[in-house]
Amino acid sequence: LLRVEGLRKRYGDTDVLRGIDLSVDAHDVVCVIGSSGSGKSTLLRCINLLEVVDDGAVWLEDREITDPRVDADEVRRHLGMVFQSYNLFPHLSVLDNVTLGPRFVVGTKRGEAEAQAHELLRRFSLEDKADAYPDRLSGGQQQRVAVVRALAMDPHVLLLDEITSALDPELVGEVLEIIRDLATQGMTIVMATHEMAFARDVADRVVFLDGGRVEESGTPAQVFESPSSARTAEFLRRFL
Ligand code: ATP
Ligand code: MG
Repeated sequence: LLRVEGLRKRYGDTDVLRGIDLSVDAHDVVCVIGSSGSGKSTLLRCINLLEVVDDGAVWLEDREITDPRVDADEVRRHLGMVFQSYNLFPHLSVLDNVTLGPRFVVGTKRGEAEAQAHELLRRFSLEDKADAYPDRLSGGQQQRVAVVRALAMDPHVLLLDEITSALDPELVGEVLEIIRDLATQGMTIVMATHEMAFARDVADRVVFLDGGRVEESGTPAQVFESPSSARTAEFLRRFL
């Protein structure tokens, strides 16, 4: 479904991504782990065309989306992205946050977009927050709304960048729970995370980034229980 080939990204004279290969099958959950600065966010931003890549390519379905002739806005409609900071529009209610994309990017009629939004909010136990403004929600609720907003665009792939890192520990669970639900329902997810227990439990594949390279990649059992690389083992020792 999604394929990254030889991806390179440099900022000034810093090589941030140094040749990343990654392929994600439909319905897979891929967790990208690695220390701070290893390139996880940059990788997700390159996949979502928020960065121009220096070399290599990203394929979505049978299309090379890094081709400069491709319309990045059109591609982003199919890639739902959620960031560490919730990025909800503070001056819009939850309902308006969720319906904004469908209405103004896709062109769905207001009534239909709102019906879909209510349905999604209900599914994630946020129905009673539809008319609330983001500042009246807990961090966990805001982040769940951010996920719902991404889902409202009916994305082919969900890209999640450490969506629980900014949350108080007691709120992490409720956000991970909805990601777990989505995974069960077959959503294709690429997720940068420091939540190792979640990765071990939910991921189909774990990719360990180190210094802008894929140091190791495999099933959670392979990566967590018998890492083939000493660097992976060392990284994991700090977490487990
Ligand atoms: P974290 O776990 O802290 O989120 P990360 O794995 O997501 O880290 P990135 O944010 O991808 O890491 O950053 C990788 C490297 O790229 C870092 O050394 C960072 O300083 C550098 N970098 C990222 N964005 C930029 C930018 N816009 N300009 C210059 N350097 C950048
Ligand atoms: Mg990051």
